[in-house]
Amino acid sequence: MLSESWKRKLINFTHSGVEQRFPLRTRLELPKTVLGRKLRLRKIMTDPFPWLTKIKGEVQRDELMMAHTSIRIGGPADFFILPKDVQDLQTIYRQRGETPVHALGEGTNLLVKDKGIRGIVISLKDSFRSIHPPTFKQSSAKKETATLRVGAGVKLSYLAKYAARYSLTGIENLVGIPGSLGGAVIMNAGAEGTEIGPFVRSVTRVTAMGEVEVLTAEEIKFSYRKSVFPSEGGIVVEAELELEKGDMEIIHKTMNSHLAQRSSKQPLTVPNSGSIFKNPPNDSAGRLIESAGLKGYSIGQAGVSIKHANFIVNKGDANAEDVLALIAHIQTVVEEKSGVKLEREIVVMGG
Ligand SMILES: Cc1cc2nc3c(=O)[nH]c(=O)nc-3n(C[C@H](O)[C@H](O)[C@H](O)COP(=O)(O)OP(=O)(O)OC[C@H]3O[C@@H](n4cnc5c(N)ncnc54)[C@H](O)[C@@H]3O)c2cc1C
Repeated sequence: MLSESWKRKLINFTHSGVEQRFPLRTRLELPKTVLGRKLRLRKIMTDPFPWLTKIKGEVQRDELMMAHTSIRIGGPADFFILPKDVQDLQTIYRQRGETPVHALGEGTNLLVKDKGIRGIVISLKDSFRSIHPPTFKQSSAKKETATLRVGAGVKLSYLAKYAARYSLTGIENLVGIPGSLGGAVIMNAGAEGTEIGPFVRSVTRVTAMGEVEVLTAEEIKFSYRKSVFPSEGGIVVEAELELEKGDMEIIHKTMNSHLAQRSSKQPLTVPNSGSIFKNPPNDSAGRLIESAGLKGYSIGQAGVSIKHANFIVNKGDANAEDVLALIAHIQTVVEEKSGVKLEREIVVMGG
């Protein structure tokens, strides 16, 4: 039932020939200014979640994840957010209700399915990229160490080179790993017998409830390509690392030989997502796949790399279905031939 005042407004409106004189709707749909258009677009995009307008960072809708994974595969994420700061992250986690939230680093150990990801994907790759200058201390008569506070969005390769500038040793073997520090902490990334875990002193994260939490290294269980936190979910925003003072020349030499070795052994010029399988105890997944005769084997446009059998490469327009079928095929054939069941290392996201 309309009130008297509304009825009057409606009657006046009907008799006023507003279509010519009152083009408010048209103006709202097609704003004249760039800012107006941006605001309108933002409104359309954030309709299901009005709180998204509070986000200071960037919000994109139906963003194709293939643009954010190193293997160049992956359907759309409903919402893709590049937060600006911790407050943005807290807004997301506190307001999301039942909507799932996924964290993304550089997407270098990730396979996103073709139908994409329902819910919200947060990427820290445009923020959380600062490194606080090291704080040195004399740990013992002979040993000088330094702690470094590093944003989760910092690339591991950059971090290793940054540490080398201060003659800090420990993580030089990780210089060729293309992921972010956040991803490295989650995956306990490692190379040539070095893992990130033992250098981590604490990790700061925004929990699934939107609280800022600082965890000591003892509270996180690091194991081979895995870390277990006291509770699930949330997003790592920073970690504190402790490194020893070393010899700058030796550190640089190690990094250079490590990088050279990688480019000779890994298919770095073709889209891939790093090692597909974990190495079984005392063996290598690559060796097992190669001796099962699968080097070069392809399904669709996804193929086992000729250069390194533990890498699957995207030879053109491979999709996630091809990769998953190839993974299943490799597991079956390797188990038949060697009795070893290969365990997947890459993370599969989406549905
Ligand atoms: C050519 C190549 C070589 C590689 N070599 C190595 C190697 O030698 N050793 C090795 O260990 N790995 C290697 N990798 C794999 C990969 O680089 C590492 O696992 C890396 O640590 C993943 O980091 P990312 O930022 O890309 O994480 P993503 O791939 O984006 O994500 C991996 C997982 O971490 C989670 N995650 C990412 N960031 C955060 C965050 N801030 N908070 C919470 N969760 C997060 C994601 O949800 C996902 O579960 C290689 C990959 C490539 C493409």
